[in-house]
Amino acid sequence: MSRSGGRLGWVVLMAAAEAAAVPPPHVLADSDPDNDFVVAPPAPLADCESRLREAGVEFAPAALPVKLATRQRPTCGIEQAVVYKRGPAKIRYNSAPVLSCSMALGLARFEQVLSQEAERQLGQPIVRIEQGGTYNCRKMARFDLVSEHSYANAIDIRSVTLTSGRKLTVLGTFGQLQGEPTGAEARFWRDVTRRVYDEGTFSVVITPFFDGLHKDHIHLDQARYRVDGTRPAG
Ligand SMILES: [Zn+2]
Repeated sequence: MSRSGGRLGWVVLMAAAEAAAVPPPHVLADSDPDNDFVVAPPAPLADCESRLREAGVEFAPAALPVKLATRQRPTCGIEQAVVYKRGPAKIRYNSAPVLSCSMALGLARFEQVLSQEAERQLGQPIVRIEQGGTYNCRKMARFDLVSEHSYANAIDIRSVTLTSGRKLTVLGTFGQLQGEPTGAEARFWRDVTRRVYDEGTFSVVITPFFDGLHKDHIHLDQARYRVDGTRPAG
């Protein structure tokens, strides 16, 4: 190969390596094993707002200033919060979620996965999501840890509604916890939650498999540690 051809080949190779190193846009969860025990609001995500626009999210900035811990409560708030008004699948919410910007990107991806799986398994799209809360300054109910809800870095999903008007509550349609379900609605919930965990959109996905506190909602967050609560324990 000529000298210039060699250089060109090298440039092409480097470009290919760089392209390979950039994860797809829906990979948002922190996968660094060295910071799993860091308890603090998530770091701002560069270009998050332009990424939200690219993802087709209508949003507005929100102010949730960081408040340092007191004896009664943990550190709360986040620098980069948004009101999520409408996502790419145009699904309506019972109330507009206020989230960390990165979680808003995650919710946009969640809408896409929900829509794909609803069409595939239930034959119709989803028009409404009932969310059960995002920002809440508190410790976890069961563990002596700070909940990602303290940073608006989490959302609870209680139900989705299909175009037919059929409402799929987690409580009523997640299905039995022993063995794999045969019903389409229970399969839908399992496939949705496993996809968004496995592809790295969320680092924590908790379903009724995890414990009785989650029998009626799906918890999604982007903590620095990982919890796969989408499968039977053991
Ligand atoms: Zn939650």
